[in-house]
Amino acid sequence: GATLGVLGGGQLGRMFVHAAQSMGYFTAVLDADATSPAGLVSHRHIRTGYEDPQGLAELARLCAAVTTEFENVPAAALQTLALTRPVAPAGEAVAIAQDRAAEKAHFVRCGVPCAPYAEITTPAQLAAVDASLLPGILKTARMGYDGKGQARVRTPAELAVAWDDMGRVACVLEKMLPLAHECSVIVARGRDGSIVNLPVQRNLHRDGILAVTEVHAGNVPASQAQQAVAAAQSVAQGLDYVGVLCVEFFVLEDGSLVVNEIAPRPHNSGHYSQNALDVSQFELQVRCMTGLPLVQPRQHSAAIMLNLLGDLWFKDGTAAASTPAWDQVLALPGVHLHLYGKAEAKPARKMGHLNITAATPEQARAVALQAAAILGIAPF
Ligand code: ATP
Ligand code: MG
Ligand code: MG
Repeated sequence: GATLGVLGGGQLGRMFVHAAQSMGYFTAVLDADATSPAGLVSHRHIRTGYEDPQGLAELARLCAAVTTEFENVPAAALQTLALTRPVAPAGEAVAIAQDRAAEKAHFVRCGVPCAPYAEITTPAQLAAVDASLLPGILKTARMGYDGKGQARVRTPAELAVAWDDMGRVACVLEKMLPLAHECSVIVARGRDGSIVNLPVQRNLHRDGILAVTEVHAGNVPASQAQQAVAAAQSVAQGLDYVGVLCVEFFVLEDGSLVVNEIAPRPHNSGHYSQNALDVSQFELQVRCMTGLPLVQPRQHSAAIMLNLLGDLWFKDGTAAASTPAWDQVLALPGVHLHLYGKAEAKPARKMGHLNITAATPEQARAVALQAAAILGIAPF
C-alpha cells in the first residue's frame, strides 16, 4: 500500500492516521514530539521540526501525498513538499488562513461579510482606530487558537495597553458583535473542483474554547444554514482550495450571518462526523489528498459532541490527576469515547471528546446532559 504523510502530530493527525489506515494506507507523521498523539499510532514517525529540510525530504520520499493537521505549520514547508508530491491543502491557502488580516481580506474578496475590523501593525494605525470598533477584541494576526492571543477592550486606552501587552505584534481589532449563537460548516474540495459539505454544526464556546457541538436538522434555521453552506463554498472556491476546510460563523441577534475565521484542516466541530455521518471529515481528508471521489456525507443520527478538557482529570480541586468515570458514561446508550493518548492532562488541554448519537435530537441531548453531569461538565 501507498503511504500518506501528515505534517503535525496532534489529535487531528491521529484521527487522520486512523482513517487512512482503515482505507488501506500506511502513514508517516512529521512531528518533533516523541509522544505526539499521531506519531504514536503511525507506521512512521519522523521526529523533527517542520523546518528541517532533511525531515521534509524524508517525508516526500516516503509518501504518495502529504497533508497537514496543524494550521501553523510553515506554509513554506508545504510549498517545498509540493515541488515533488501532491500536497493538500496548498501552502498558499494555508498562508492566508494563518494570518487574520489576509483571511479577512479574502472574505471581503469573496463577498462574504465578516466583523468590522482594522489592522493594527503600527502606532499610527492604533491612533487612527475608528471608535465604532469599540468595544472590540484585539487578536494577534498570527498563531492564536482556543482564544489565546486575544484581549477584550472597551476604550482606546485599554486598546493601547492590550497592544503593548501583546508586544506590539501585528494584530487585528474586531468589533465585538452581539452573538445569538455560533455555527460552522466543513467543506471538502477535490482537485477537480468537486465540493461536498458536512451538515451545519452549532457550536458552544466556553472561555474561547469549543465546548459542545450539536448537529441535527433544525439546530440552525434553514435560511441561515443555506447561507452558511454557500458562504463556505465560495470561501473554498476563492482559494482554489483542495482538502478539508472549516469555516466558522457568528449568527447575530438580528439573524444575520457573519464569517469568523477559517481552519485549513479538519476541525474540532466536525468530530461528530466519526459516528453520526456515513463519511467522516478525516475520510474526506484522505479522499481529497489522494484524488479519490468525494461523496456528500449523509447524517444517520442526531449528534452531540462534548469536548473532554484536561480539567476533568483534576476533580474537587485536587492536584493529582485521576481518570474520569468512563465506565459510567459508556453505560449510556450511543456514547462514543475518543481519547487522544496525550501523555499528560493539563487544564484547558484537549484530551478527547465524546460523540453522542441517537435517533432524535431530544434523546441525544438527554444522554449528553447525563454524560456531562457524570463527568462534571457544565450543562448547556
Ligand atoms: P479557534 O480555537 O476556533 O481557532 P481562536 O483562538 O482563533 O479560536 P476566535 O474564533 O477568533 O479564536 O474567537 C474565539 C471565540 O471568541 C469565538 O468563537 C467567539 O465565541 C468569541 N469571539 C471572537 N470574536 C468575536 C467577535 N468579534 N464578537 C463576539 N465574539 C467573538
Ligand atoms: Mg482560530
Ligand atoms: Mg475560532
